[in-house]
Amino acid sequence: MIPKAILFDLDDTLHDRRASVEAFTPALFAHLEPWLSGASLENFKTVLHRVDYGGYVPREIFMQRLLEAFHAKDFDALRLAKFWRSEFAKFAQPMVGAYELLEFLGSKGIKTGIVSNGTVQLQQAKIDALGLKVDVVIISEAVGVKKPSAKPFLEALRLLEVSASEAWFVGDHPINDVQGASSVGMKAFWLEREQRAEAVDAVRLEHLLELRSYVVGS
Ligand SMILES: [Mg+2]
Repeated sequence: MIPKAILFDLDDTLHDRRASVEAFTPALFAHLEPWLSGASLENFKTVLHRVDYGGYVPREIFMQRLLEAFHAKDFDALRLAKFWRSEFAKFAQPMVGAYELLEFLGSKGIKTGIVSNGTVQLQQAKIDALGLKVDVVIISEAVGVKKPSAKPFLEALRLLEVSASEAWFVGDHPINDVQGASSVGMKAFWLEREQRAEAVDAVRLEHLLELRSYVVGS
């Protein structure tokens, strides 16, 4: 049965976070240079990737770890985290196929939405910068609890007036996205950005546009 709605994770699903970090790194390096004790951009990139954890740590902690790695003293991690939040979205890159897929779903009359963990300011800024057109956006900060908790998923379904069994979810995180969406009763698709050792109980997608054939065949 064709789904009535398809919900998506944002980072590393509709938003190519890796490409955005890559694009943002030179600007961040230039901003932080006074604290970096003469480090090269290459060295900075290496350390940044090590402490970023794919964005799964608060930016204040990330900034603190990043600067500590360069033995930086007298920095204000809160202020530098603010810089990340205000500037990162300007470098946001879409995932390959994201616009085409949303347009395709719209043409089929399927409602769409984004369910994302993070702060409203940063996640909404990325959605706006990318110009992602969806019917509903739920950001964990606004509902007070993160995925994989049921609430963000259920809130999106409630606003779309669709039941879980009529909706699909697409995301890159095996627990936050796949387990979270499955436990509320949605069919889950795992956008496999990295080879993972653990078994993920979901339909695997290597590319967003593969979803079209599941819609057509449903
Ligand atoms: Mg993600």
